[in-house]
Parts: sequence; structure tokens; C-alpha cells
Amino acid sequence: MIDSQTFDLRGAHYAIGQTLGRHTARFEPPHWWPPPPDLAFARECAAIVAELHAPLLDELRGYADAQGLAFDELLRGICRRSMKLRRRAPAHPEGGCSSYARIDTDGHVRVGRNYDFYPFQRVRQRIRLAPDLGRPSLGMRGSVPGGRYDGVNDAGLFIALHVVLANEPAQIRPGLPFHLLPRLVLETCANTRQAVDLLTHVPHLNPFNYLIADPSGALAVVEAHPERVRLREPERKGVLAATNHFEHPEMRGFQRGRKLEHSRRRLEALHAGRPLSDCASGLCGHSGGHTTLWSVQADLTARTIAYAAGPPCETAYVGVPWPGAAAG
Ligand SMILES: [Zn+2]
Repeated sequence: MIDSQTFDLRGAHYAIGQTLGRHTARFEPPHWWPPPPDLAFARECAAIVAELHAPLLDELRGYADAQGLAFDELLRGICRRSMKLRRRAPAHPEGGCSSYARIDTDGHVRVGRNYDFYPFQRVRQRIRLAPDLGRPSLGMRGSVPGGRYDGVNDAGLFIALHVVLANEPAQIRPGLPFHLLPRLVLETCANTRQAVDLLTHVPHLNPFNYLIADPSGALAVVEAHPERVRLREPERKGVLAATNHFEHPEMRGFQRGRKLEHSRRRLEALHAGRPLSDCASGLCGHSGGHTTLWSVQADLTARTIAYAAGPPCETAYVGVPWPGAAAG
């Protein structure tokens, strides 16, 4: 059963976590994840979260309590150390996410993104949040409590993540799991500069690209690997895109030997202005790990955002109230 519930919640983080926990199937690390780390490792990761935004841990506590899970077990479950898949071929996720940000001729900053993965990912919840502590936001959550895969906040700051097909370090040190980073950015940052500052200073657990944009037209992609983080800015004025590989010359070495054709083709299509509904380029995906599970498009200047709950070539976008504004 696909869980595509939508939530519109406000209040204390603990209570928000309780509500989400009560309405969601009991959390288990997805079967395609590698085994969780030991508790000491997970606690070190949690300490990094606490330094940045401690209320997020309260939400996880509320979530665990509502589901009758030990908080420590939940912590271990969310601190995913490796992107390697188990019990499934291929050994690594293919990755099919595609995002763009651009400043259009009318001066508006527009962004869009397709989230692609295997259809066996059940949880695809859209959460509109106005917490007591932190900025209001709207975004999509996957299997993991507390995380966001993309979203926008009340300041018009947009962020989307993309797994990168990269070699992982031999020794894995504590850091922030990928899914918590967009959430931390949405709740604690007001603009692209602050988001870049956060993402380039924290220790990362997983190789990912983060596309960021704000209404001032500041666009950035943070290319993050546990061993190095680099910033990519628009080559051509006013357009930036991200898919599932590193572009920065100092990052390319991490993906030696990987097949990057699909990811490169999608990046080229976005730079050429192809829409997210373009199936021929692979932007809009219909099979395996390249199935578009949802799509989002937003005008950060006009403060409008719309989601499609499937491949955008055949699924209509539906507008959702901007975060922080009274729900309509
Ligand atoms: Zn399509």
C-alpha cells in the first residue's frame, strides 16, 4: 500500500512527531538498506543534529513514543551509513532524480524536480509544517522519520536532494544522514547563502547533490561526499540543474567506473530547457529505479507551488498552499 497522506501540522516538535508516528506504519529501516550502525555511532550523529537544531530530535522522540519504538533504535535506523542496496540488484541505487532552478525572462525564479525511485518505496507523504521553533515549510518525506527529500520554506528557499553514484569511504565517520539535511535547511535557513554555509560545513554521511534556490535568484548545487564538499554555481547565467553525478572537477574522482550516461543525459536535457514531463530524455521515468514517484514545480517569486503524485507526463499538478500562509 502506498502511503501518500498529506499533513498540515503546527505546534511543538514532540507533538508533531507523535502525530506523524501515529498515522504512519511502524518504522523499520527499509529492507533495501544495509544494517544500521551501533548505538554509539548513532548518538554521535544525533549530537551533530542537536548542535544545529535540537527540536528535530524532539520530533523523533515523539515519533518513537507514538510507535512504541525505543528512541535509540529509531536513531540507529535513521543513521544510514551507506547508499549500497542489499537484497536487490543493482548493488547501488540507479538514482533518477532531476532538478532545475532558473531565473526566467520575467524575472521570476522557478524551480522543479522529479523524484525517481523504485515503486517499492511506500511512504511518500507531503508535509506542511509550522513548528513552534523553526521556519514553516512544505515538503516530501520518504521512508525515514524527520526527513525531507525536497521542499520550500516561508522565505521561498527551495532545496532538493539527489543520490550520487559514488565510491564510499573505507572508514565511515559520524555525520548527518542525507534525508535530515533538507529538513535542517528548511527549518533553520532563510536564503541560499545560509543553506550553502550549512551544507558546506557539516560532516556528511552520504554522497548527495543538493540543489538550492531562493527568490533573490541565488542558485547553487552543493556536491557532498563524506570526504569532500564542493559548491557548483550556474555556468550559464540564471540556470542550474542537478541529477545523480558530481560535475565539479574535484569531485569526479569519487565516481570512477560508474555508469553515468542516464544522469548526464538528464542534466543536458534540463540545461536545454526540456520540461520535467519529457520521457524521451529520461527526465520523466516509468521503469525500475527510474520511476517518477512525484514531481514538484514552484515559482519562488510568486510564492506558488504544485505537486504531481506521479510521472508528470500523465499526472496533473495540484497547487498546495505556500508554507506559513493560512491554509486555504
Ligand atoms: Zn513520462
